[in-house]
Amino acid sequence: MASYFLYNIANLVVAQSDNNKPLRGKRQGEIEVIPDAYILIKGGLIEAFGRKETLVTPSREYTPMDMQQSLVMPAFVDPHTHLVFAGSREKEFAMRLHGDSYLEILSKGYGIHQTVQQTESASFDELLHLAQNRLIDLERYGTVGIEIKSGYGLKPAVELKQLRVIRELKKRTNHPIATTFLAAHALPMEFKNKREDYIQQVLEETIPEVAREGLADFIDVFCEKNVFSIDECERILLKGASLGLRPKLHSDEFFSIGGIPLATRVEAVSVDHMITATDEDLQLLQGSDTVAVVLPGTSFNIPHARLDYARKIIEADIPLAIGTDFNPGTCMCYSQQIMMELSILLYGLTIKEAINAVTVNSSFAAGLQESTGMMKEGYRADFVSMNIRDVDEIPYIWGINKIQRIFLSGDKVEFEA
Ligand SMILES: [Zn+2]
Repeated sequence: MASYFLYNIANLVVAQSDNNKPLRGKRQGEIEVIPDAYILIKGGLIEAFGRKETLVTPSREYTPMDMQQSLVMPAFVDPHTHLVFAGSREKEFAMRLHGDSYLEILSKGYGIHQTVQQTESASFDELLHLAQNRLIDLERYGTVGIEIKSGYGLKPAVELKQLRVIRELKKRTNHPIATTFLAAHALPMEFKNKREDYIQQVLEETIPEVAREGLADFIDVFCEKNVFSIDECERILLKGASLGLRPKLHSDEFFSIGGIPLATRVEAVSVDHMITATDEDLQLLQGSDTVAVVLPGTSFNIPHARLDYARKIIEADIPLAIGTDFNPGTCMCYSQQIMMELSILLYGLTIKEAINAVTVNSSFAAGLQESTGMMKEGYRADFVSMNIRDVDEIPYIWGINKIQRIFLSGDKVEFEA
């Protein structure tokens, strides 16, 4: 494994946790930025970094690399994706743009059920191939750490197929990947009038098998009016937790039905969406380490999304992370750069709050904080250089891919800008 001496870095973004905790409140907006910096990489790890003048000339074993006055920061961590699926749903997306709601589309049998059917029909190899190609694209946009959910199988065998695809993906790449069993995403059509039978199948059959094979780190539910109730979600999350799967929730995307009180009861690692969270909900999360994951690419399509909800989360002293929610229904954008830019331009996050949200805090939301998402000595060398010099250029030059080079565990991946 090569050792590198990176020099001529215009600015180095030293995003770090707060004593091994996610960043919240005022701390969310604080990052040290070192001008005119260097980095030493050895054995795939960050050996040292700092200002140029503090460096003692490195030995010949380090290959020098001119970073050409670029901005260097930790590679992005995407804490919320549905990366493994077959098919696409552009017609339904257009329907929604022209006024049909997600829940109306769902009740007509469109929506998620198309993906469920196409994911069931696809072979293991087809799903793996699709997911691998998507992962390569994500990497081009600067994402290294990633959380991936199942949830398009619904039937035990198909959920297991999705989870085994993620396991294979993990074996074949050097990306830190967190796996989530999305145990309650939608009620399968064939269980339309037998809700409780489906819940029992999840509780008694699917969760135990996922745990037995060690296929997932997390268990997740779609806690929403007309999808899964608080009681159903609570039983599922507790069953998963009893078998070692840590809880996560999709909650408060459309309605506030008590998902956040549930998140506090089950000590969720993250609660994702949070658009309709009330002030009381936010108070409940204060002081806990549960990370609020905001998904600007999804809420962009929801007419009721208040533009101030992300700001309120930070002001309530709750750690905020940003993810893509990459999925075939509501967000086919997998660029954490664009999510970061939208959170600044639309939601009023400061530039540094947004950087911490796509690196440090998203690594906590994905349970990957031990391996990626920060600039720390002894840490995996996962970072990006961008075709800009200063963090202020992040929302200024937006919507394009600014990634110049990626270091994945100390290995250099170079792109043509
Ligand atoms: Zn999602």
